Amino acid sequence: MAHKGLLLVLSGPSGVGKGTVKNAIVKNKVFPFEYSVSMTTRKPRPGEVDGKDYFFVSEQRFQEAINQGELLEYNEYVGHHYGTPVGPVKKMLAEGKDVLIETDVNGARTVREKMPDGVFIFLTPPDLHTLHLRLEHRGTESEDVIMGRIREARKEILVMQDYDYAVVNDTVANAVDHIKAIVDAEHVSVKRVIDDYRKMVEEE
Ligand code: 5GP
Repeated sequence: MAHKGLLLVLSGPSGVGKGTVKNAIVKNKVFPFEYSVSMTTRKPRPGEVDGKDYFFVSEQRFQEAINQGELLEYNEYVGHHYGTPVGPVKKMLAEGKDVLIETDVNGARTVREKMPDGVFIFLTPPDLHTLHLRLEHRGTESEDVIMGRIREARKEILVMQDYDYAVVNDTVANAVDHIKAIVDAEHVSVKRVIDDYRKMVEEE
């Protein structure tokens, strides 16, 4: 029987390591899924590939995507736009594929409103000091931008109450293990399989 795929939404404060955890899941093919590539107006960082890490677009193209209803959600973050193209997500779910979305907490809130069936995973830093060190270590942002991101993070951590799971990103390997366990459990959660069993019982 054709099952709709699981929509997995990975979110949490900026700098918590969503991108790193997502890349580890993608690279190691920890479980079968498709990654939803976001659109952004920020410039690529060294090593980032257009169409793989993000679709890097102009502000004009981004506005057009908003106006044409191409985005499931979008947000402005530290001067740049980020959004999730809706078409590929819906298509892949309909094909029975699990889809992983990485988004900031505002985006996750919108996805929750539009697709409440999703599995919402909140990635947390072990503490705010670790978060600051990680942002500094990345070396791609100025101290001003880092402080802006830390301020956002303080507010964002309390948002976890709207999520299904909180995963501590103490090490990437631990976080990935927990996410795999969540996906395995969600696949056998009664609310997702009960319809199959109802049909089976009715057919007997
Ligand atoms: P970065 O510039 O570090 O790649 O991402 C900055 C922030 O934007 C991160 O919190 C990241 O999770 C978030 N982000 C990435 N893709 C999306 C998206 O499609 N939608 C939204 N709302 N945020 C995103």
